[in-house]
Amino acid sequence: MAMSDKKKIVVIGAGWAGLGATHHLAQQGYDVTLLEAAPYPGGLVAGWKTPGGRSVEGGIHGFWYPYCNIFSLVKQLNLDPFTRFTRSSQYSPAGLEVESPIFQDRPRLPSPLGTFIYTRFQRLPLSDRLSALPLLYAVVDFDNSDEAWQRYDKVTARELFKQFGVSARLYQESFEPMLLVGLFAPGEQCSAAAALGMLYYFILAHQPDFDVVWCRGTVGDKIFKPWIDRIEKAGGKVLTNQRVSDIVIDDRGQATGVICGEEFFAADAVISGVSVSGIKKIVASSSKLNSYAQFRNLANLKGIDVLATRLWFDRKINIPLPSNACFGFDPTTGWTFFDLNDLHDEYQNEPNTVVEADFYHANQLLPMSDAQIIAKVQQDLATCLPAFAEAQVIDSSVIRVKEGVTHFFPGSYQNLLQAQTDIPNLFMSGDWIVTQHGSWSQEKAYVTGLEAANLVVKRFGIGAEAKIIPIEPDEPHIQFARSVNKAMRDLTKVFPGYWLP
Ligand SMILES: Cc1cc2nc3c(=O)[nH]c(=O)nc-3n(C[C@H](O)[C@H](O)[C@H](O)COP(=O)(O)OP(=O)(O)OC[C@H]3O[C@@H](n4cnc5c(N)ncnc54)[C@H](O)[C@@H]3O)c2cc1C
Repeated sequence: MAMSDKKKIVVIGAGWAGLGATHHLAQQGYDVTLLEAAPYPGGLVAGWKTPGGRSVEGGIHGFWYPYCNIFSLVKQLNLDPFTRFTRSSQYSPAGLEVESPIFQDRPRLPSPLGTFIYTRFQRLPLSDRLSALPLLYAVVDFDNSDEAWQRYDKVTARELFKQFGVSARLYQESFEPMLLVGLFAPGEQCSAAAALGMLYYFILAHQPDFDVVWCRGTVGDKIFKPWIDRIEKAGGKVLTNQRVSDIVIDDRGQATGVICGEEFFAADAVISGVSVSGIKKIVASSSKLNSYAQFRNLANLKGIDVLATRLWFDRKINIPLPSNACFGFDPTTGWTFFDLNDLHDEYQNEPNTVVEADFYHANQLLPMSDAQIIAKVQQDLATCLPAFAEAQVIDSSVIRVKEGVTHFFPGSYQNLLQAQTDIPNLFMSGDWIVTQHGSWSQEKAYVTGLEAANLVVKRFGIGAEAKIIPIEPDEPHIQFARSVNKAMRDLTKVFPGYWLP
């Protein structure tokens, strides 16, 4: 096909979602242009170098065991970017609280038994841990269907755990820290549906799910650079410093292209891969999108602030495990720290210690100066591992990501978009888009990018659909419990709509 006959696709935003869509469509022979507002591709996972030549990124990113589609992509690209599976610890101001094993190395038990039995809690009494048992009913009842989201989304995660009799300590020392790290918000600000979906995907569904690997450098260097080379070889164009201000819709309600600065990029179909805060800005500056309720409703969604810091210390400090989650330091903020000498090739032979410390739901930290932030990080690190108190910080980087990550707050589900919008040739992707796949975070962003690409393939009947690996099926006992529960629910459907869902 001559270039001019090819269907033109514009993709907005070069995160996992936008790159996934662009890659597949370029491979299928479409004329794809990816427009990215930032100077670097990668979105929240972008990495770059400081003026002093040190690598930094907007937070360290783990790749959990069930990220099958990302692992398959990396294999397809012939890359070897990841560390081994690593163990992790949890700290509170009282010291070490939990150590996790590598779950896939332990004899496999029916889920979620292994998670409870193999995790080493230092302080949390067994009676508190057992108080999680009744919650298993909600885990079975929440099957990621639209109905289940409707049922659980208007309740806060805290309310759900309270209703099911989870003890105060188990909530404060286990569930809330997981929510802060997984959904970036404290339990009273998270939707119960999102909490159940996230906990099931990362922890409960199968014993090895909580096992995690990291990139041996920035994801930008290790995955995105070689990936973009491949996309360009397949004919895709990836343009940075290109902020889209409008998606142009004609009188028949079809997208005809996008406006970017002074330029108009014509398109036969448009895919958005931008975040919640990104799309809200596009709708606000658009001349037509505001006439669609589903796009106006996006004004009801929100992003959450995060803070990513990297500190270079003047000496070697022994950090027992490479990845660490911390709770109880600030009431509404969770944080993690990572031993980059262990995880990143670049720092393996450094005589100094290099630590990444990322703070989630960091609203109240963002106004602090860099120096204040670095002093706080050092103090918090020293609370976990006292050797940090004596060391000197010799270099540091502070990255503030305002409203960067999706906030799955109670009641937000009704405003989230599906891949197919009311504009027949405008498709959505990203980690906040509703999908039946069941994955979260980076894997979800990538999967929704492929799903949007598949809608383009379906629309034009050109090329093959991307193969999306489904998540591993529920274990048989969970499948059984779910089918019994569903049968019971169907029985009670004789009184539709009388009680609140
Ligand atoms: C500190 C931190 C830690 C995290 N840890 C993990 C982790 O350990 N594991 C994990 O799986 N996930 C983690 N996440 C979440 C993960 O980063 C996201 O789920 C994922 O990167 C989202 O990808 P995306 O493609 O949906 O969107 P984004 O990465 O947000 O990409 C959207 C892109 O669109 C661009 N854009 C926006 N507006 C416009 C416009 N008008 N025109 C052109 N371009 C535009 C943006 O610049 C951006 O590049 C973490 C996030 C943060 C911030």
